[in-house]
Parts: sequence; structure tokens; C-alpha cells
Amino acid sequence: MNEQELLKRVEALENRLTSVENSIDIINNFVTAIVESQSIEETMDEIESMTKQLTKCENAKFYCYDNSNGKFFTHGDYRDWQETQSADEIKSAYENKGIISDSKEAVIPLVSANGNSLGVIVAEKESGFTPNDYDYFRQGGQVVNTVELGLRKEFEHQGRITDELTHLKNRQGLNEYLANTLVGNINSGRSVNILMIDIDHFKDVNDTYGHKSGDVILKDVAEALQEATRTGADCAFRMGGEELVCILNCSPETAVDVSERLRMKIENTIHNVTKNDEPVEIKVTVSMGLHNMSPEMEMTAENARAVFDSEFKYADEAVYKAKKTGRNKLVCSDEKMLMSYLALKSAEFLCGDDRSNIDEVKQETVKMLVEDKDIDTVVEALQAYAEENPELADMAAELVSKINETANLIEEKQTEEIDMSYESRAPKYYNKEAFKEIENKTYLNTDAATAFQIAQRATAANIEFSAKYDGAKSAVTVDGVKDRAFVEAMRAEFNIPEQTHSAPVQNKGYFGREQTQQSSPAYFGRQPEQPKQDKGATYFNREGFKDIQNKEYIRTDAKTAYTISQEAQKFGIEHSVKYDGDKSAVTLDGVKSKDFIEAVRKEFNITETERQEKKPQRAPAYFGKEQTRPAQYRSEAPVQRESSYSQPQQNREPTYFNREGFKDIQNKTFIQTDAKTAYTISKEAAKHGIEHSAKYDGEKSAVTLDGVKSKDFIEAVKNMAEWADKVQIREAQSQNRGRNNGAR
Ligand code: GH3
Ligand code: MG
Ligand code: MG
Repeated sequence: MNEQELLKRVEALENRLTSVENSIDIINNFVTAIVESQSIEETMDEIESMTKQLTKCENAKFYCYDNSNGKFFTHGDYRDWQETQSADEIKSAYENKGIISDSKEAVIPLVSANGNSLGVIVAEKESGFTPNDYDYFRQGGQVVNTVELGLRKEFEHQGRITDELTHLKNRQGLNEYLANTLVGNINSGRSVNILMIDIDHFKDVNDTYGHKSGDVILKDVAEALQEATRTGADCAFRMGGEELVCILNCSPETAVDVSERLRMKIENTIHNVTKNDEPVEIKVTVSMGLHNMSPEMEMTAENARAVFDSEFKYADEAVYKAKKTGRNKLVCSDEKMLMSYLALKSAEFLCGDDRSNIDEVKQETVKMLVEDKDIDTVVEALQAYAEENPELADMAAELVSKINETANLIEEKQTEEIDMSYESRAPKYYNKEAFKEIENKTYLNTDAATAFQIAQRATAANIEFSAKYDGAKSAVTVDGVKDRAFVEAMRAEFNIPEQTHSAPVQNKGYFGREQTQQSSPAYFGRQPEQPKQDKGATYFNREGFKDIQNKEYIRTDAKTAYTISQEAQKFGIEHSVKYDGDKSAVTLDGVKSKDFIEAVRKEFNITETERQEKKPQRAPAYFGKEQTRPAQYRSEAPVQRESSYSQPQQNREPTYFNREGFKDIQNKTFIQTDAKTAYTISKEAAKHGIEHSAKYDGEKSAVTLDGVKSKDFIEAVKNMAEWADKVQIREAQSQNRGRNNGAR
């Protein structure tokens, strides 16, 4: 061996040494990374990265074996594996504990020192694998030992954060997810949605089929949830009991889509359970609440849970609303979310097979439905499309009906906001307790309107007070010693004489004036002559508003409108109110409410009220009918929050509509009508806790009630004159025999 050959050998040895040193570095780093890893996903990433570095291969994927279900997974995705062609090879390598290789692709099982297969690496190397490459993964070698350690650590951790029954993550899992994943997503401005799911009537399921059957269902629902969200990005949790939560990292519209599909899937899933040890098949439904997160403060690992909880509240409220309005449904914390989703669905529908300008159509539709609230144009387009494609008419009808329904919900919300702002302007209504605490009581006895003003002044001046609004028996009470100046000022301004607080208010009529006619009912300040219960129920809401005959508008400011409305309500007088600053108005039937209107005129010095002839109502925007301009409908629609329905069926838990509930209604009475009217009727029924079921299906919509229990409600519906041609009331013969003698 000459000097040159020797040098070459030394060089080769040095290279080999460097390479070994490199490998040692890689393996040491791998050990550190595995020890520090926070999750199974991270551990799997490290295995893949280590494989690429050690063998200098281009691709490496680790398939981990899950003992609990006998499946392989990569990054939590089972389908990924099932769909690869190498599925059989992976299984075979795993079971036979031997490498399968065609030099460029290698399937390498990782076998621990005591002979357990841990998983399989599938790797690709353009230049081909060498025996040296495989040697790193030999049984009992450091690489495999480290993988074993790392996986055990992660499986143990996984066990701690996983719910045993459903295999979803538990609360602890949620806490970790929030701190490790959600914080980053939120702070980088990504859209995150919270979906909350609660099984409907689950107690009944447990009661009827036993707890074990309940568990089966819980597991099935969890599995559906896992399947719907198994994209790696989303994560499902069991918060406890039968309440499941899912974090959906996607746009709000996609979240609606995913949730709605999930709801339908669950609705159609058959569960194999037992009843008295006999196998039975049953179905359940779920109620869902969806909220797109928009936390007000920055999220950190420390405050993650608190911030999440404050946002979770909205999803929870939405579930509650879903429960209250029928179950088996998805409610969004913000209906605009639903509207955007409907816009996208409509756009897809309208584009059909022609996808060339779908993005523009989508943008345009979202703008029309969500920003411009131009429901008509979209509805017209859907109708026109359905006319050209009759086979799609049902789908179009469903979209139209949902769009209308959602528009109503959005409108309602705005209405509520107006009311809220009114209330926030209103003074505090002190309760009896506060009343007791006021020392040296001085009563400013007056009428409701004045009391209201005084209360406002007191609030502004930060004076402790108590106010009672009760027509002519209204009073504001303050501490006469502390607030002497205030008392004086009010007496002077409102011309309130000194009164002994015990003096009964004289039997005066409207707001302290002598009543002129004995026969007129004693509005404003006197007890109703007829107890409310004896008067027929009057149902008013914004639909009802339209139905008030011979309309008489009392235009006034919000405060007066409020007082008038209160008074009207007390006497069960059908009316409708709109609070909108100085454009507020109370609308009544001018014939029926003649003397009441008279009293109001006198009381508030309103010289005249405005009469308006009934406008011919335009047909709602459903199929086969003329279009209504929703904008006009909206501007015309006043606010009506309270109802004077006099016999709320308080003790009855309202059960709203789902298919199941529908079946349970006895002595069925069907009110057949269009979707919008059905919606209105259903709302009103819900408000009064009246058991019913509603189906929205364009002109084939119907509300079903128990005709015996809901007699007067049905009567009220019948009396809605404007509905005469819209509403058909039909009673189910089978259940009605003996009651409806004519029908036999
Ligand atoms: P709603 O439609 O209003 O949700 O009615 P519900 O009967 O489902 O009422 P709620 O959600 O309040 O009831 C939850 C019930 O879920 C109470 C309990 O019987 C049942 N439940 C909670 N956790 C479990 C569980 O782990 N297994 C079983 N089988 N049942 C559970
Ligand atoms: Mg529950
Ligand atoms: Mg429940």
C-alpha cells in the first residue's frame, strides 16, 4: 500500500466517521425532540423527519398502530391510510416484522426490543436504500427504543385527555387544545367556529331503553362527529354528559355546511340498542349551536380557557334556542352566518353545471342577501331557474323557504336591538326591595308618564329612588331629607301637590282626570272592569299588526308609546307598537278601541290620530305567487314584543316541532297555510307555550296542534281576517271522532 492509497483510506475512514458522527447527532436530536414532544402528532412528525435525515430519503410517512381499534393512523387520519395502495404491504410488514423493499420504496416495520410491532415507516428514496439505511431501524436499536418510549409517553397522555366512552377528547384535552392550538389560530386571524351539540330528549332514551342503550347512542353520535371532522384541522370533545363540542377551523359558511350535514347524518343513523334485552333499532336527533369566534381580547395560553368560555356561551345559547324552537336543528349565534351559507348554496344552485363564473356569482349573492338584504332578487332568480328546471323546483323551494325564514330571524334581531336601546335609555325600575330601603320616604304621586320622566331625572342626577308605574297610581319615591331640593324641583315642574302618601288615589279616569262617561272603561289608572282572562285572547305580533282592522295610528315618541302600550296591554286591547324615537307609533283597531283612543288623545294631548286604509297585501315571495318587497314589509312592520294572550300555559313545558313531537300531538288540528304564515303562527304558539309542530314547505306548509288543548288559539287564528283565504284549518278525522260531530 503506497502513501496515496493510505491517504485515501484515511480519508474514507474520516468520511465514515463524520457520517457516523452526523448520525449520532441526528439520533441525539431525535431523542431530545421525542422527550420534549407535546403530542402524538408531533412525535410522528419527528419520526418522519429523523428517517429522512438518517437515510437521506425524500419521503417518509409513519403509520402508527392503534391498539384500541386495530387500525393504523397517520396524523390522526385513518382514511389517508386506507386509501393508499400500500395498505396490504403495511399490514404485512407490521405482522411479519420484516422489511418489504423494492430498493426505491421501503416499508419498514419498527419492532421493539421485546418483539412488539410499534408501527411502519413507508419511505421513498430515488437513489435506492442501502442495508446501512435499514440498519438504523433494527430491533432493539436506539431509534426503535426511542420511538417506543415516545409513543408510550404519548399514548399515556392521550389516555388522560381522552374520554373513555366516546374516544373524543375530554375537558383536559380541550384545555390543552385551547392553549396549544386554538390560541395560535385565533391570534393569526384564522376563522374558528365552536359547534355545540346536545342530544334531543336523551333522558327519555335512557328511561325507555336503559342507560346502556344511551351509551351506545352517545358513542354512535361521537363517531359521526369524529368522521365529519376528521380532517386533522378540527377537533371534537365531550364536555361531559351528552354535550359534545367541536372546534371547526374553517370559514363560517363551511362550518354551517359541516354542521348541517352532521345533523342530517345523525338524524338518519340507526342505532342498534336493546329494550328489555331485545334488540331494537332507534334514531335520535341533535340540537346544535354554532358560533364563529371573535374574542375581544388577545388570547394567551393563560387566559385561553376563560376567553374560550366567554365565546362558548354564544354556542350554548344557540343550542338553547334550537331546543326552544323545535330541536333537531342548527341555530347560529349570528343568523348572518346562516344567510351567507344560504347565499353560497343559492349561487351554486344557480350556476348549475356552469362553474365558469361561480366565484363572482357567490360574491354577488352574498352581497345581495347579507349586505343589501335584497331577498327578492335572489328569490326571483331561484324561481326563474326552477321554472326552467322543474326537476329542481323542490330544492329551490327549500332554499327560498330557508332564506325567508332566516331573513325573518335577522329582522327580528334588529327589532330586538331597537327595543334594547330603548330600554337602555329608560330609567331603572327599582324593585320593591330598593323601595323599602329608602329612608324618610317622600312619595311623588303622579301618573305613569310623569313618573317616568321624574325617574329619568333621578337617574341622571344619581338620586336613589324607586318608581312604580301603574297608571294614575304611579309614584316615584325618594328620600325627602337627602333629596329635598329634587323633591321641590319636581313638584314645581310637574305641578305635583304635597300629598300624604297614604291617601288613596281618587277614583279618577285617565291619568288623573275626571271621567266623563260612566260607561267608558276605566283606562289609565283603574283596574280593568273585566278580568283579562274573560276577554278573548288577542294575539299580536308584527303579523298581527297587519291584521288589525280599521287601523288607527297614534304617532308619538317612544316613551309615550311605551306608556300607551302598557296601558293597552293591561286592558287586553289589541294593538301593536313600534319604538323608533320620535317616529314611534301605537296602532289599534279604531273601531274596537274607540274609547281607549279617546282617552289617549286627552291624556297626551294628541289632537288627532291618523287613519289608514288597509293596503291590499302583496303575496309573500313563495312559488307561484306575486312577490312581496321585503324591504317594504320590514319598514311597515312595527315592533311587538309583549303579547296580551291572557292565558299563558305556564306549567306546560312547550314541546316544539320535530317529527317525533309531531306524532305525539293528539287530536290533531292542521292549520294549512304558506310558509310565512306558518312561521308566524308557530312563533305565536311558541310564545304561549302551546304544543305544536310546524312544517315549512312553501304553500304546503302546516302547523299542527292539539285541537282540544289549543281551542282558543285556533279560534284566534281563524279570526285573523286577512288570513281567511290563506289559512285552511282541518282536523284529523281519525283522532277527532266524537268531538267533531259533523265529521263523522
Ligand atoms: P333535551 O332535548 O332538552 O336536551 O332533553 P334531554 O332529555 O336530552 O335533556 P338534558 O340534555 O338536560 O339531559 C341530559 C341527559 O343525558 C341526562 C342523563 O340522563 C343523560 N346522560 C348524560 N350523560 C350520559 C351518559 O354518559 N350516558 C347515558 N346513557 N346518558 C347520559
Ligand atoms: Mg344536555
Ligand atoms: Mg339533551
